Amino acid sequence: MPFQQFGLSPEILRAVQEMHYTTPTPVQEKAIPHVLQGKDLLGSAQTGTGKTAAFALPILHRLAAETRTVRGRRVVRSLVLTPTRELAMQIGESFGDYGRHTGMRHTVIYGGVSQRPQEQALLKGVDILVATPGRLLDLMGQKLVNLSTVEIFVLDEADRMLDMGFIVDIRRIIEKLPAKRQTLMFSATMPSEIVRLSASLLRDPVRVQVAADAAPADDVDHHLYYVEKASKADLLKTLLADDEIKNALVFTRTRHGADRVERTLSRAGIRVEAIHGDKSQGERERALSAFKKGTIRVLVATDIAARGLDIVDLSHVVNYDLPNEPEAYIHRIGRTGRAGASGTAISFCGFEERPLLADIERLMSKHLTVVSGHPFASPAKPAAPTVFHTGRTPSKPRPFMISVDAAFLSAGRTVSSSSPTRVSRHAGNEARPTSGPGGRKSGHRDQFPFRGRSQR
Ligand code: AMP
Repeated sequence: MPFQQFGLSPEILRAVQEMHYTTPTPVQEKAIPHVLQGKDLLGSAQTGTGKTAAFALPILHRLAAETRTVRGRRVVRSLVLTPTRELAMQIGESFGDYGRHTGMRHTVIYGGVSQRPQEQALLKGVDILVATPGRLLDLMGQKLVNLSTVEIFVLDEADRMLDMGFIVDIRRIIEKLPAKRQTLMFSATMPSEIVRLSASLLRDPVRVQVAADAAPADDVDHHLYYVEKASKADLLKTLLADDEIKNALVFTRTRHGADRVERTLSRAGIRVEAIHGDKSQGERERALSAFKKGTIRVLVATDIAARGLDIVDLSHVVNYDLPNEPEAYIHRIGRTGRAGASGTAISFCGFEERPLLADIERLMSKHLTVVSGHPFASPAKPAAPTVFHTGRTPSKPRPFMISVDAAFLSAGRTVSSSSPTRVSRHAGNEARPTSGPGGRKSGHRDQFPFRGRSQR
């Protein structure tokens, strides 16, 4: 189905064409018609599925259909709340891209930077405001933002907002919105608090579900190194001596861990930066842009800092620590192997992380390929292969799987898709799905011999 069928304005279609999007992604196909009709929407879709365009295109279309000003100045007609600065910037960029021929004006506000330029942009007047909750509340407190004119409200990544402790802030912001408005809420998972929030926020919503992303990108090789904590840094340095690793995004569980890895690599002469919640916005932006430009070769990040990052051309993702939630593995490796490009995910697994590994393998219905005979191999006996259960049902119930289904199966119209699609804005002329079936259902671990520098 081409984009033309939605009835979007020629200005928007032109921008979409300039972005080289030819086919809407599943979430776009399902959400856009309803948003255009002014319906409330509850969407379960993650970053990477084309979710931003699913709300940004119809919002731009609806707002651009008639301009609205108060005393000659534009007023905020759409508010998009999102949990992190990086996501806010990316969403702002997308509104800029998709709306470039519409004359709609937007700005992005987030904390950690001077409020002055944001204040000035607001004073000039904007139609669309993309914000993180803390800075928005600050500016509202200073009477620099007035939300009484909002027509369309988007609550993005609601579950992540909850995890980050934003629920009270969100409720305070919502109190200031007009009761008569269109609301779009997106959440990858549906814990009970989100279900309650959605019930209080949405009126007769259309539900759009793009299945939980349990399938990793097709073109990613999954390599597993059994290595104990004390040897992980040495192993990483050894791997990075191989210039087949063009660039690598390295995930650690904690901020301190990220700093430690950064220091170790830096001492070894590797160009590296770390991003996490303790870094200032300026530091994070500089690190990210240096990484994208190739000035640094390694970016170390925690999950929250890396969430939603759109990095093109990433050769390796390294799970220095395995994530506590298996879904995070899929998010992490979704940063490589984008748009049909191949990539490698390298995971380090210490003895005490083995249950986490089993969770990941069960979620993907796939064994990671063990790299044997590397110089820092764990002295512990290799783990027995993870046993899979039939289908993709995980061994123990996790809220992620249970509540999404429960919430979506409950009431209302459900538009669902079982094939999540990952896309990249650099997909050339076509959105190319890069996810697919998980792989083998059982069997022995694959073995992959270690290929150090000396063996090349
Ligand atoms: P999002 O989930 O909104 O963060 O989008 C992920 C990536 O997909 C971004 O780089 C978008 O530019 C890109 N994208 C969104 N929709 C499409 C589409 N229909 N075709 C190709 N790329 C797309």
